[in-house]
Amino acid sequence: AEGTEDSYDYLFKIVLIGDSGVGKSNLLSRYTKNEFHLGSKATIGVELAQNTIEVEDKNIRAQIWDTAGQERYRAITSAYYRGALGAILVYDIAKVTSFQNLDKWIAELKQHTESNLSVIIVGNKSDLKHLRIVETKRGRQYAADQGTLFMETSALDSTNVTEAFEDLVMHIYEGVK
Ligand code: GDP
Ligand code: MG
Repeated sequence: AEGTEDSYDYLFKIVLIGDSGVGKSNLLSRYTKNEFHLGSKATIGVELAQNTIEVEDKNIRAQIWDTAGQERYRAITSAYYRGALGAILVYDIAKVTSFQNLDKWIAELKQHTESNLSVIIVGNKSDLKHLRIVETKRGRQYAADQGTLFMETSALDSTNVTEAFEDLVMHIYEGVK
């Protein structure tokens, strides 16, 4: 579909979740702006960013919601999840607690979203090879057990970032087209 930058055929709301510090905000800024920030930048309120992807001649707008650090206090409200068609659940491959907490995040998703939600579990910071604690096959197996997509990424060196977002968008698209 051609047209102005603001026209699209589908709008998919996608939420980013996972423990504080795993790299959610940097994954989003890498994907939408090709930017990476060394320090954690506290966002004020919920931050939204979007990208439009062309698939089968259709423009799909992925509208991605990032938290403003509420995840630290487990204070994400239902408004954050409302209407979401997809979720990106992030852990840090070098921080085992962020992997162990995936169970809690999955429970939170089940509580707040429809059962047909598309989910990708993302093991971020794959550049930290010498600090890795969660093996790739362990992450992949967990995702398979949960019936979700899986990807390891690095917001720092860009590995698989676009792939993770776009695999999820394609999965949503297959369910709605
Ligand atoms: P959030 O709290 O989940 O939004 O995490 P942030 O995006 O704020 O990132 C937390 C910290 O991890 C920051 O210091 C980032 O620079 C760092 N970080 C994020 N992604 C990566 C990555 O892929 N590799 C490495 N080495 N550091 C990362
Ligand atoms: Mg953040």
